[in-house]
Amino acid sequence: MTAVQSVERPTMECETQHFLMAQRQLDEIAQEMGLDPELHERLRYPKRSLIVTIPVRMDNGTVRSFTGYRVQHDVTLGPAKGGIRFHPEVNLGEVAALAMLMTWKCSLMGLPYGGAKGGIRCEPWNLSLGEQERLTRRYTSEIINLIGPDKDIPAPDMYTNEQTMAWIMDTYSINVGHTVPSVVTGKPVSIGGSFGRTEATGRGVAYCARRAVSHIGLKKESPTVVVQGFGNVGSITARLLHDTGYKIIAVSDVHSGLHNPKGIDIPRLQAYVSEMGKVKGFPHADEITNAELLGLECDVLVPAALGDQINDRTVNKLKCKIVVEGANGPTSPDADMKLHEGGILVVPDILANAGGVTVSYFEWVQGLMHLFWSEEEVNNRLEQIMGRACDQVFEMTVKTGLRPRMSALRIGVGRLAEAKRLLGLYP
Ligand code: GLU
Repeated sequence: MTAVQSVERPTMECETQHFLMAQRQLDEIAQEMGLDPELHERLRYPKRSLIVTIPVRMDNGTVRSFTGYRVQHDVTLGPAKGGIRFHPEVNLGEVAALAMLMTWKCSLMGLPYGGAKGGIRCEPWNLSLGEQERLTRRYTSEIINLIGPDKDIPAPDMYTNEQTMAWIMDTYSINVGHTVPSVVTGKPVSIGGSFGRTEATGRGVAYCARRAVSHIGLKKESPTVVVQGFGNVGSITARLLHDTGYKIIAVSDVHSGLHNPKGIDIPRLQAYVSEMGKVKGFPHADEITNAELLGLECDVLVPAALGDQINDRTVNKLKCKIVVEGANGPTSPDADMKLHEGGILVVPDILANAGGVTVSYFEWVQGLMHLFWSEEEVNNRLEQIMGRACDQVFEMTVKTGLRPRMSALRIGVGRLAEAKRLLGLYP
């Protein structure tokens, strides 16, 4: 049995640099684990990709067209699952690459989902709330045939939040004629969301940071932490680590960074940011640039902002012992290799930030059961699943000598490949 030779095929529309990078990562692990070439071939491309044009009436009365995407990479293990992002850099290749990552993430965590991602190319910070609502509702209506509680379940991602999910739920429900809370996760608790979902990604990142610290045998009472990004993931991670006695010596947002070697008072900074909208001007720390922040000496570095932050240009500056990837794809493949060779432990995105989709899964389950759990129950279950996944990845790393990212991929890809092998190829 031989697989179709990829080289003989015309280029696919999604094959941007970003997508090819995700695909190369799969190719690398497929070779490493001796994956059946037919199964490998079937995992290399997204299953479904939809591009839509979204006309929106702007506040000034004009109509503007936006481009939106929804890509389902795989649906073997269950409905597709993944966030929706609003960002000017969104394109088909990026969404397809992130959908592929979601497949590996869900499989690694043992969730009964395939991977998806969606997005709208826009500058959300230049849109009023009303424009964002009309954009979200029309996008939902354009992708309505793809989504549904048994088909594909969106969630928040960059620059979307629980309000965005409420609009999607409402638009979907109106179109089908009855309320369907389980069409999205990450919605407000008052309309069927789960306790603990908003904090879940940061909670998982903080949990992984603590596990990584004990994995490398660091015996310090207050390990030092640098967090890049102070949005949902970065701020919650910083807060939870601060509360467990870690010293957060630097943080940043899109505008600027803060540094205080004695430790930043995170609860106070959170209060400042909720009032001012940015970290700049916080009185109890020095201002630094993002580039300086990445090069600070620390125990744990948490990139929780954009993708491609640790790359050829920045990797040599890093002076941390551990990187815990709060963002999706913050480290380029070459930089990942360099960090590993330099003895820096990288907890990869598909493990480190999987707390979000794990509690999304809990939200979906609770919604389908119409039975809701306490925050304590949600957090306990999250720790159980994160702990198991961390153990499996660290064990695989020790056993095989693979980088943690490759170990995580090997587990995720391996499980899915086994399912595909058992189900066979139709017809
Ligand atoms: N957008 C998040 C992620 O990248 C969450 C996805 C979800 O909850 O479905 O993992």
